[in-house]
Amino acid sequence: MPLYLVFTPIGNLEDITLRALRVLREADLIAAEDTRHTGKLLAHYEIQRPLISLHEHNEPVRLAQILDRLRAGEHIALVSDAGAPTISDPGYLLVRAAIDAGFQPIPIPGPSAFLAALTASGLPTHRFLFLGFPPRKKQARAQWLQRVRMEPGVLIFYESPRRLPGLLADIAQHVGPERSVVVARELTKVHESFWRGTAAQAVEVFAQAPKGEVVVLVEGAPARESSHQALTPEVEALLARLLAGGTPVSESARLVAEATGLPRRQLYQAALRLFRE
Ligand code: SAM
Repeated sequence: MPLYLVFTPIGNLEDITLRALRVLREADLIAAEDTRHTGKLLAHYEIQRPLISLHEHNEPVRLAQILDRLRAGEHIALVSDAGAPTISDPGYLLVRAAIDAGFQPIPIPGPSAFLAALTASGLPTHRFLFLGFPPRKKQARAQWLQRVRMEPGVLIFYESPRRLPGLLADIAQHVGPERSVVVARELTKVHESFWRGTAAQAVEVFAQAPKGEVVVLVEGAPARESSHQALTPEVEALLARLLAGGTPVSESARLVAEATGLPRRQLYQAALRLFRE
């Protein structure tokens, strides 16, 4: 009856847990992003179980089939090509549908590229924003990066090696050329490497697409920059309304500080800026 979300290796076949192997061995059905790819993993561990494909193009139509089999009491394991299912990979729709149908999915944790990259990056690990793959269109990507520029936590991206030079150029331009960047490449594989430098240096070093898979990590916004970020559009709108109604700058800041608990100094600065604008 359970739906298991089984994490699989991101390069090194040894990175699979004993529990994951047991769950795969005991599954009535394994739903895989690419059955041939998963077939190799299963063959390596001498596991022979029925496989069906579940990828981004057929996920909606597979849902009903898999839910029926869960209702029939079968044990289903969901895997993607690498790492955590549903993380920049198919599976979310199935997880949601299973929950809605009364089946709580069971995670079988293991490797995921962004966590492996973050832990060894040397960047602060207490706060981060996983962003997955950036938009491909240049303008959309620029706007998307501008929206996360003030995030105080580490920014984490997935990207294909071919698009890495373009992403790094946009990070230097829209996030900041002096930000620390780490490019984690070929994690868990023979040519695993971590490159560290500034965004501007990364643009030079990765002017050509590198070989292999990469995770890009970018230092969060410096505290001074990010404190301005803490103001949401709602808070700004509240300040703007008070100012427009004739409330003086310092009084507007005081009122909003009382209402929101945000620092009065920061609100004063914002109110002053809005007043001038
Ligand atoms: N579900 C996977 C996970 O949990 O990490 C991510 C799948 S996503 C389709 C593939 C992307 O993950 C790659 O383009 C790359 O950015 C990153 N990735 C996966 N394996 C990697 C590895 N061994 N080294 C570096 N990056 C990797």
